[in-house]
Amino acid sequence: MARLKKILVANRGEIACRIIKTAHKMGLECVAVYSDADRDALHVQMADQAVYIGPSPAAQSYLLMERIVEAALETGANAIHPGYGFLAENPGFVDLAEGAGLVFIGPSADAMRKMGLKDAAKKLMEQAGVPVVPGYHGDNQEADFLARQAEKIGYPVLIKARAGGGGKGMREVTAPNEFHQALASAQREGQASFGDPCVLIEKLISSPRHIEVQIFGDNFGNVIHLFERDCSLQRRHQKVIEEAPAPGMSQQMRDAMTKAAVRAAKAINYSGAGTMEFIVDGTSALSVDRFWFMEMNTRLQVEHPVTEAITGHDLVEWQIRVAAGEPLPQTQNQQKITGHAFEARLYAEDPANGFTPSTGTLAYLGFGGGRKDIGVVQGGRVSPFYDPMIAKIITHGSTRSEALAKLRAGLAQTHVAGVKTNAAFLYALCEDDDFNAGNVDTGLIGHKIKALTTLPPPDGFVILCAAISALKLDFADPYSGWRLWGEARHGVELVFNKQLISASVSIGPDRNVQLRYDGAELALENIDQHENRISALVNGVVVGAEIINYRTRLGSYAISVLRNGHTFVFDVADPLAPGVLEANSDDEIVSPMTGVVSIVDVKPGDVVEAGARLLVIEAMKMELAVTAPRACRVSEVLCAEMDPVEEGAVMVRFAKDLEG
Ligand code: ADP
Repeated sequence: MARLKKILVANRGEIACRIIKTAHKMGLECVAVYSDADRDALHVQMADQAVYIGPSPAAQSYLLMERIVEAALETGANAIHPGYGFLAENPGFVDLAEGAGLVFIGPSADAMRKMGLKDAAKKLMEQAGVPVVPGYHGDNQEADFLARQAEKIGYPVLIKARAGGGGKGMREVTAPNEFHQALASAQREGQASFGDPCVLIEKLISSPRHIEVQIFGDNFGNVIHLFERDCSLQRRHQKVIEEAPAPGMSQQMRDAMTKAAVRAAKAINYSGAGTMEFIVDGTSALSVDRFWFMEMNTRLQVEHPVTEAITGHDLVEWQIRVAAGEPLPQTQNQQKITGHAFEARLYAEDPANGFTPSTGTLAYLGFGGGRKDIGVVQGGRVSPFYDPMIAKIITHGSTRSEALAKLRAGLAQTHVAGVKTNAAFLYALCEDDDFNAGNVDTGLIGHKIKALTTLPPPDGFVILCAAISALKLDFADPYSGWRLWGEARHGVELVFNKQLISASVSIGPDRNVQLRYDGAELALENIDQHENRISALVNGVVVGAEIINYRTRLGSYAISVLRNGHTFVFDVADPLAPGVLEANSDDEIVSPMTGVVSIVDVKPGDVVEAGARLLVIEAMKMELAVTAPRACRVSEVLCAEMDPVEEGAVMVRFAKDLEG
């Protein structure tokens, strides 16, 4: 590492943390950059130094190349790692960094330019003898001309923004009469997202699989491949679960694909980590004449950990070594696949609600064993400004089924409270028969989306867990048993999915419990509690769940119960329930988010009805009205209009009673 001592990581979240980990392992110092929203972020805590680069929106911080290069020079960093996303594939950033005398940990600006636009990349690949999807990728962008090209290719076709990424600017067209409208909307999206309305047209491959090859080059003309990854489990062209190697891959097919990938990388003198993405006909067994180059990603991929798991290499370490001027650490002949690996992307989003991002404070974060690449901490926030990925869960096993069983087990133990996540959706995927059999294609999730996103209702045991938590019954305390018997029956009201559940819990001797709710009855024996976990015998079968109690954005209490890979969130309905009363949340109102108070409706002495608006807070064009949780008399107002407030700050206090 003669040339590299200190690396500036021009990114955030899990990938910034991932890079810092390896750099530290190699004895290198790291400089983090951060925006307003990331002041307390994990990558900032992990780095040796951190530089503030601007407001939360990426365009005012993580995309400011000059500011980032300046931060590197200010802190004496001599290299920049871009991670993925943001500036990672921006050749202008490479030029700027290198012009300032910094080492860019990635390929040359020239290689990026060659592969940056999908149409140019395809032409280049054709020249290098790599099969590309049949289609039109020329300069003529005239609508009628493109429509004729689509006819020539044969419907169905796919229109793609040539500057596209992340599935944006892509439109499937099944018939000629839909062409013009689809073209216009792809062009609009290309212009809006990438500032480039140009498109290419491709044959739409039916039941395709996405298989990509990891390649690695150095500055001495060496290029090797590190096998393939299958990323066919996608939702709207975005990867959900990735694996390596690809299921059903034959040696012949692997040879053909990896040879094409290495040839393509050599054609552009590629150095560093890169990925050749191919689309593969998945209608039957993989066949060497039915795979086509789609695009090259000139950076580290999100899903690189599955390759690390089956090869045993640290790809970030390889990137740093190559950038420092060392030759590739190993040759092609030394490469070997060991076992099978999966990666699942855990997102803060709501699958039941069209996968809308779910922002908020991570009240609790719990995971199973094995590798997790995480970029957040418990108590931290998922902000609306960036990709809402919470973590990547990576498993490795000697066989595919062993690695998949580990992934399922890992997801079953993934418990996130405070924001909604796709954990149950990922868990349901792990139970899917086709996925288990290796019958994957990019349409699998779409075809089964309903089943994969329909949550089972909470069963009796889950309701019991929520009731125990709301009632603050403590079965871990050896004395609580007999202290509780006396009070024969405890009633509680819970809210699940906006529905009221009235439940009662009766405790008998020997830790036997009777639960009644909504006309149902459940008898449980041997109830046992250990920290957050509750278990019991139901009809002779042991059942268990994990319970987390937390304060919501609006200051009330919620209970999150994790059982069989599903998380059920309950609100405690009755403000007089012990849990809520003890927490005193009913006597004050805290700010649900950081922002500015735009309206204050009340003053001390006012008597308001339940649901009345107390004040309005504004943040990032979002307005939130804060209302009274019950009829009450205001005793104190601790903020004024235009005051900035922090999430969690007390804003209004109520008197104990309505009369003054
Ligand atoms: P982006 O750069 O926006 O991610 P890609 O070109 O990598 O776009 O394609 C993303 C995904 O779209 C692929 O993984 C695949 O699922 C699907 N796709 C791309 N090209 C085709 C095609 N010709 N036929 C069918 N599906 C395709």
